[in-house]
Amino acid sequence: MTTFKDLGVHPEICAPLERKGITTPFAIQEMTLSVALQGTDLIGQARTGSGKTLAFGIPVVQRSVSPKDRDYVDLPQGKPQALIVAPTRELAMQVSAEISLISEDRGLRVLTVYGGAGYEPQIDALEKGVDIVVGTPGRLIDLANRKVLDLAHVHALVLDEADEMLDLGFLPDVEKLVTLTPETRQTLLFSATMPGAIVALARSYMRHPMNIRAESSGERETVPATAQFVYQAHDLDKPEMIGRLLQCEDHDKVVVFARTKRQAQRVADDLAERGFPASPLHGDMQQAARERVMQKFRDGKVEVLVATDVAARGIDVTGVSHVVNYTTPDDEKTYVHRIGRTGRAGASGVAVTLVDWADLHKWKMINKALDLPFDEPQETYSSSEHFLHDMGIPKGTKGRIKKATPEKPKDKDAGADGEKRERAPRNRNRQRTRSRGGQVVEKSAAPAAESADSTTPASGEVASDGSAPRRRRRRRSSGGSSAPKADA
Ligand code: ADP
Ligand code: MG
Repeated sequence: MTTFKDLGVHPEICAPLERKGITTPFAIQEMTLSVALQGTDLIGQARTGSGKTLAFGIPVVQRSVSPKDRDYVDLPQGKPQALIVAPTRELAMQVSAEISLISEDRGLRVLTVYGGAGYEPQIDALEKGVDIVVGTPGRLIDLANRKVLDLAHVHALVLDEADEMLDLGFLPDVEKLVTLTPETRQTLLFSATMPGAIVALARSYMRHPMNIRAESSGERETVPATAQFVYQAHDLDKPEMIGRLLQCEDHDKVVVFARTKRQAQRVADDLAERGFPASPLHGDMQQAARERVMQKFRDGKVEVLVATDVAARGIDVTGVSHVVNYTTPDDEKTYVHRIGRTGRAGASGVAVTLVDWADLHKWKMINKALDLPFDEPQETYSSSEHFLHDMGIPKGTKGRIKKATPEKPKDKDAGADGEKRERAPRNRNRQRTRSRGGQVVEKSAAPAAESADSTTPASGEVASDGSAPRRRRRRRSSGGSSAPKADA
């Protein structure tokens, strides 16, 4: 079994840990320590309680110069060498306690600062000299503004529980603090989840950070703070559902995950034809084309990205409000990874998973593995009231904002008069849901679209009028509920 010593932790740090009975590193510690001890920038993601404090605390303490050695290095006496920013007073105190413990034998002075406490003791301590400051953003900025906290000699900056700082609206303060420290510092960012805004923060202020994510096997995965909705849906109704979703009240960028390259292309084409700025992202596209698409997506010129898992690797775009699983992901890891792409500043994202009848078993496995409350996803159509309600889609919305492009100029259904065009989507729905098994004859501008390469042909129960059957055999009457934060 690997020990802290094996990972290069100094005996003066191992000793106080051993006194507390801590000898074997947790997963996140084992993964980050040897890297962070080198001074590399690092992003560490692991769920609450997984030991993130020591994962950054040990490198911070080990790389700090103890007062007795300070005369030998070019460092003014008493100025903070390390700054650890935590979202709340409680967390700051917890972190401080662990840092103090591992600093004991090295004689480093640790100071905790937070709002709601008197300034005097904090200012006194800073004037006497400290090595490591742990604090909440507001008070840290206060003290810096009063010129009692000098951050110009900080070699290590830690942003702890970064997602919580985001939730509490501290990101501007955090950014300000970052700019008060030298650019040459080591930056360590730790978070239980990685919302887009945090990724963006890391991008702007970290130098080639290493991304380390710990999921200790056997334990439940971290499910990010995402509102999850799971619907049993009909394959042929999905583009209409997504088209309606794209008109919900509160949406930003949307990522649709497809199972195959062909499916990604097909769905993107379908959505584009419906009038939505959609683009595929898959492995058949040249690297340059993929980068162009990503840039457009970042810029907001492309609103919907229809991606395969492989191509979506490394998508770190801010402002993704919705992730749609067009088909059920293969396993819980993929599911968690996909829905982790949502999240906007101050708001959690929405993840919508569409489960085909054929995929129900697969979904149940994921549901069980993650202990989610959606064992029996509700049958849902684009017209289902609960769907419109869950998603905040205004009544009467159709999944198309552009007239159907006539397939053939002669086609009399398309483009004759506004009335007819308006009704086209609904008619399509009826046709689709009536014909089982994917054998749909419909007038769509994406001709081969719906039929041949559908990986999961629709089957099972379909209401003949295309509406959701009103059978309330489920305990949960609403198709989805916001799943609890697993790490709350
Ligand atoms: P996180 O920041 O990831 O939520 P903490 O760093 O607060 O988690 O750690 C949770 C608890 O686990 C703390 O009480 C800490 O002392 C303890 N702990 C951390 N690392 C170890 C370890 N390697 N062995 C035993 N206990 C540990
Ligand atoms: Mg913590």
